[in-house]
Amino acid sequence: MTVESAVLPATPLEREASLLASVPTGLLVGGQWVDASDGGTFDVRDPATGEVLATLASATSEDAVAALEAACAAQASWARTAPRVRAEILRRAFDLVTARSEDFALLMTLEMGKPLAEARGEVAYGAEFLRWFSEETVRNYGRFLTTPEGKNRILVQHKPVGPCLLITPWNFPLAMATRKVAPAVAAGCTMVLKPAKLTPLTSQLFAQTMMEAGLPAGVLNVVSSSSASGISGPLLKDSRLRKVSFTGSTPVGKRLMTEASRHVLRTSMELGGNAPFIVFEDADLDKAVEGAIAAKMRNMGEACTAANRFLVQESVAQEFTRKFAAAMGALATGRGTDPASQVGPLIDDSARDDVHALVRDAIDAGAVALVGGAHVDGPGYFYQPTVLADVPNNAEILNQEIFGPVAPVTTFSTEQDAIQLANASEYGLAAYLYSRDFNRLLRVAEQIEFGMVGFNAGIISNAAAPFGGVKQSGLGREGGSEGIAEYTTTQYVGIADP
Ligand code: NAD
Repeated sequence: MTVESAVLPATPLEREASLLASVPTGLLVGGQWVDASDGGTFDVRDPATGEVLATLASATSEDAVAALEAACAAQASWARTAPRVRAEILRRAFDLVTARSEDFALLMTLEMGKPLAEARGEVAYGAEFLRWFSEETVRNYGRFLTTPEGKNRILVQHKPVGPCLLITPWNFPLAMATRKVAPAVAAGCTMVLKPAKLTPLTSQLFAQTMMEAGLPAGVLNVVSSSSASGISGPLLKDSRLRKVSFTGSTPVGKRLMTEASRHVLRTSMELGGNAPFIVFEDADLDKAVEGAIAAKMRNMGEACTAANRFLVQESVAQEFTRKFAAAMGALATGRGTDPASQVGPLIDDSARDDVHALVRDAIDAGAVALVGGAHVDGPGYFYQPTVLADVPNNAEILNQEIFGPVAPVTTFSTEQDAIQLANASEYGLAAYLYSRDFNRLLRVAEQIEFGMVGFNAGIISNAAAPFGGVKQSGLGREGGSEGIAEYTTTQYVGIADP
C-alpha cells in the first residue's frame, strides 16, 4: 500500500494530493501493511474544510491482538540487538524525517489544522527525540558496587520492559509518537502504536519511515482504528503486554489505569493540564506578552502545556491585559496551508462548541471579552483569538482545560496569593512565571506543584528535558535521560564474595 515519493508536483493542490497518496493506508503488523480483518475503514478529515483527506483501515480487536503477537515474537531478538545497531536505526530515522520535513509538516497541517510554520516547528521538535534517544541508546548505564559490609557485590542492570502499547492524542501527531517510540526503541522494547483517529496519517508516514530506517519487522506495529477501546480493551487484558504509555485526557487515563491494574501493568500517563501564566509586577511586560502569545496560541491553544489561566499582579494587570488583547486581536486566522495564517481551526465542531460554552459561562459570571468570543464564520472549525478580563476566580474556565485560543485573565495581590491560586487545581503539568527577580522565580517554583516551570519563557518543551506532570496531570516523564527509564525494568544481581 505504499507509494514511492513522487517528483514535486506543480500546484499546491497537486502537492497535497501526491503527499496524501504516499501515506500507507493499512495497518502495520509484523512488518506488513495489511487491511483490517473485517475490511473496515474510517475517514480522516481536514478541520479547515471538513473534507475527507484519506480513508484508512480501521483495526479490530483481533487486529490489535495480532499486532501484539507480532510485537511479542520480535521482543527477544530485539532486546538482544546491539545498542549501537538500535542507535543507528534511530539516527537514520532522524535523518529521514528531517529530509522529509516539508512532507511531515504539510501532512500535520492538513489533518490537524496547525499553521505550516508551527508544523515545521513540530517536525524539528519531534525528530529531535529520534536523535536524542539514538544518543541515549548506548548510555543506558547500570551500576556495580561493593556492599556496605565489604564482601559481596551488587550488579544493577536495566532491561527492556517488554512489548508496549503506545496510545497518542491528536494534537501533536508527530511529536507524541516519536516521544514514545524513540525511547522504546532505545530501551529495546517492541511496540503496538495506536494513534488518535482524528490525526493518524502522520503516524502512518512515520511508521513507514521507521521501516525505511531499518527497524526489523514486528518491532513497531501500528493499529489505527475508529474504536480506541476496541484496541486497548483486549490488549490490557493480555498478560503478554508489559507496559502502556498513554498521552491524552485525564478521564481516559484514569480508565486505562484501572484496566492496567488487572495485571499490575507498568504505566506512563501524560494527561491534562491547567497551566498558570503568572506575571509579577517586576516583569518585563513586553516579553511577558510575547511569552503569553506563545504559551497560549501554540497549536491554537490545543496543548496540554497551553497557558490556561493568566494570573497578573494587580498593579500591572491593566497594562498587561491591554497589550495582550491587542496582540491577540492582531493574529490572522486561516487555513494552516496559507502562509499568512497564524491561527488554524480547532480540531472539530464539538471541540469548538466546548470552547465557546466555557467563554459564555465566564461572560455570564461577569468576565468581559476584550477581543474575540465567537466562532469565525465560514467552513472549518475556526474560533476567534479571545481575551477575557475580570474573570471571577470561581469561573469554570479557570478549572477546566480550555483547549482553544481563549485567555482568561485574573489578578492577584501578593506573591503568596499567586502561589495559592496556581496550586488551586487538580492538575500540575506546566507553569510559566514572569519576573526580573531570579530569587523570586526560584522561590515561587519551589512552592508550586507543577512538573515543569518556565522562567520568562512561554515554550519549554525540549527532547533533552523530562516532560511530565504531578497530581492528575500524570505519572512518568518523557524525554531527557528519564525518558528511557520508562521503558526499562531494573534487575539486581547479588554476587557472592569473589
Ligand atoms: P483523549 O483522551 O480523548 O484521547 C487520547 C488517545 O486515547 C487517543 O488515541 C484516543 O483514541 C484514545 N482513547 C480515547 N478514549 C479511549 C478509551 N476509552 N480507551 C482507550 N483509548 C482511548 O485525548 P485527546 O482529545 O486525543 O487529546 C487531548 C488531551 O490530551 C488533553 O487532555 C491534553 O491535555 C492531553 N495531552 C497531554 C499531553 C501530555 O504530555 N501531558 C500531551 C498532549 C495532550
